Amino acid sequence: MQRLRLEISGAVQGVGFRPFVYRLAHRYNLAGWVSNTSKGVVVEVDGDTEILARFAEALLKEKPPVSIVQDIRSEYLDAAGFATFEIRASTEGKKEAFVLPDLATCGECSLEILDPDNRRYRYPFTNCTNCGPRYSIINAIPYDRPSTTMSGFRMCGSCLREYEDPFDRRFHAQPNACPECGPHLELWDPAGVTLAERDNALRKASAEILDGKILAIKGLGGFHLITLASSDEAVRTLRYRKGREMKPFALMFPSIFQVSEFCVVSSEEKEVLQSPRSPIVLLKKRDEHNPPISISELVSPSNHEFGVMLPYTPLHILLMMEIGEPVIATSGNLSDEPICIDEIEALERLKGIADYLLVHNRPIARHLDDSIVRIFKEREMVLRRARGYAPLPLSMDEEAASVLATGGHLKNTLALSIGRNVFTSQHIGDLETVQALRAFDEVWNSIEVLYDAHPDIIAYDMHPDYISSARARESQIRGIPVQHHIAHVYSCMLDSAVRPPLLGVAWDGTGYGTDGTVWGGEFFHITGGTVRRIAHLRHFPLPGGERAAAEPRRSALGLLSELFDDPARHLPLGTFSGEELDVMKKMISSNLNSPLTSSAGRLFDAVASILDLHQTIEFEGQAAMSLEHAIGDNKTEKSYPVHILEPPGEPIIIDWAPLIEGIIIDASEGMDTGIISAKFHNTLAEAIAAVAEATGEKKVVLSGGCFQNVYLLQRVLDVLENIGYEPFIHRSLPPNDGGIAPGQVMAALMMDSEK
Ligand code: ZN
Ligand code: ZN
Ligand code: FE
Repeated sequence: MQRLRLEISGAVQGVGFRPFVYRLAHRYNLAGWVSNTSKGVVVEVDGDTEILARFAEALLKEKPPVSIVQDIRSEYLDAAGFATFEIRASTEGKKEAFVLPDLATCGECSLEILDPDNRRYRYPFTNCTNCGPRYSIINAIPYDRPSTTMSGFRMCGSCLREYEDPFDRRFHAQPNACPECGPHLELWDPAGVTLAERDNALRKASAEILDGKILAIKGLGGFHLITLASSDEAVRTLRYRKGREMKPFALMFPSIFQVSEFCVVSSEEKEVLQSPRSPIVLLKKRDEHNPPISISELVSPSNHEFGVMLPYTPLHILLMMEIGEPVIATSGNLSDEPICIDEIEALERLKGIADYLLVHNRPIARHLDDSIVRIFKEREMVLRRARGYAPLPLSMDEEAASVLATGGHLKNTLALSIGRNVFTSQHIGDLETVQALRAFDEVWNSIEVLYDAHPDIIAYDMHPDYISSARARESQIRGIPVQHHIAHVYSCMLDSAVRPPLLGVAWDGTGYGTDGTVWGGEFFHITGGTVRRIAHLRHFPLPGGERAAAEPRRSALGLLSELFDDPARHLPLGTFSGEELDVMKKMISSNLNSPLTSSAGRLFDAVASILDLHQTIEFEGQAAMSLEHAIGDNKTEKSYPVHILEPPGEPIIIDWAPLIEGIIIDASEGMDTGIISAKFHNTLAEAIAAVAEATGEKKVVLSGGCFQNVYLLQRVLDVLENIGYEPFIHRSLPPNDGGIAPGQVMAALMMDSEK
């Protein structure tokens, strides 16, 4: 007889791990105990050595489907003489256990809410240990009911029996609830007057949506604005009220069957749509369809994709069943503000937008937007990381100092490393509004409280004006500033678990450079602990600086002014008024508020302007997106010449002059914009390959918002692989600025260890 002690770390709490161990111990007839600790789960069992080994093997093999075991330590000790097997109360200690993301409703719970004989028939807050809210309701770890936003609800007798029965699917399901004892719905008018309650509220809400109204619905991680996708009138009204003209709206479909009627869906895309993560998946629109309903052109105008998700809570399942057709489900906010999570606040913030509010009394602990992913080469690539993904960590090779990173300015997230784990917060958004700043402070506070963190280092962007950097500098923690594009590359290195030596390529819209210019088309040679900027795109002036981000025509004028005496002659007629042009030319010639940039994003903007796709834009990346979409089926292997300058002792410069001249000639000869765009993309891929060859590093890491462009990414991969190089791309961290914070953590750790 011996005693086996197992210490299991990872995402093992709130997933039915203890009851699973309990049942397993019973199967093998073993006495002992299991308990949650702040590290994870600890098991001790007495038994015959051979049986103990089989028990341990079965434990790993049969573990609950949603659990993630990161590490398991086993130890054989003297038998303790246990009489029974018991589940012991949680113990305190250093907080290292993972908090689980919210999980979409499981199959069994879905069946229960549709079964008229079940006591949870049509109950919108049904859940079990395999599904339901987690991160959105947790205030502290260990994960137990009193430390969740369900603490105010007392379980009824029936729920308590389930909760205490180790053989029940709801054993220790912390948000366990039923119509008797749990949260309930109310339908409010815009003044907060209750119009209906419980199931009536749900039925009336669906009827109003079917009638073309806009509803604010309190969901899992915040409010959605929901309206019928088939109605031009409803979509137009929503766009008008939300102040959002063109940016695509996400759709929620009642079923995967309907999704495939409107979109091309691969088996991988189906799998992700139906996974417990349940993100928005970007899908190609079908050219033709003939179902009885249609989707308004205004949902995703001049875009060949829809952002699509399936219902992921019982509330959404019931609602979508009543509605029976796709709806817009966009975050409940004004453009660019973080998603609203509180019903009282919603009355104020969504005033004038929502016709009705469908609310409930289960508080949301923190805001969580819907995550956005794309399937690229059969695998997920996360573009916005929030519900269903946050806060699962990525792990480093070894334990290191604890670093808190405050991220960038746009698409902000925070990150925190503890031990080997790097936790990235949910998407916060652009730090441009009071609400966004408040969300930033709340996320910072909650990430520290949740993990009881005492960071040794605070990492932040070098930009002198970023509010995220100012917040970091105000703190008492030792600070390490990190250059924006270096953070991008380190983010992808963490994401794809690749170590130096390598070539890091960071292409995006904008980032503070260390030489007084605006960076964004950068190449770094990373060897061991040194980072050297070995190449960048040729500079051009940006008249108006930051304002150029919203006006591609400014990038075009700046770039053309480097090549021609009369730059405006190569822009579409009427791009600028005579007056505007005079001002801007003067800015450029006198160097007034016209910083030099090496940004790839601005190069995309300039080309989009020259080809008259966009002169001004509404959202980040819109011009580049149009350029990519213009390619369509215009396949060509052609490209423009790549001109590489190698000034001795200086970074290599990729000269875009032959590229721009080629585009102007092609356009003047009436070549199709799609072909020109394809040639443009091909040229950029060849430029990256040329720098890779000049450096000689086989491993090439690709990061930055430009690599959300599927055509560019695919082309770069093809070109690099053709010459025997090995490219690495983002998968679970966004290539855009949402991935900056974990990159800052990694870069700061590297810089700290070099000192
Ligand atoms: Zn369930
Ligand atoms: Zn109950
Ligand atoms: Fe960036």
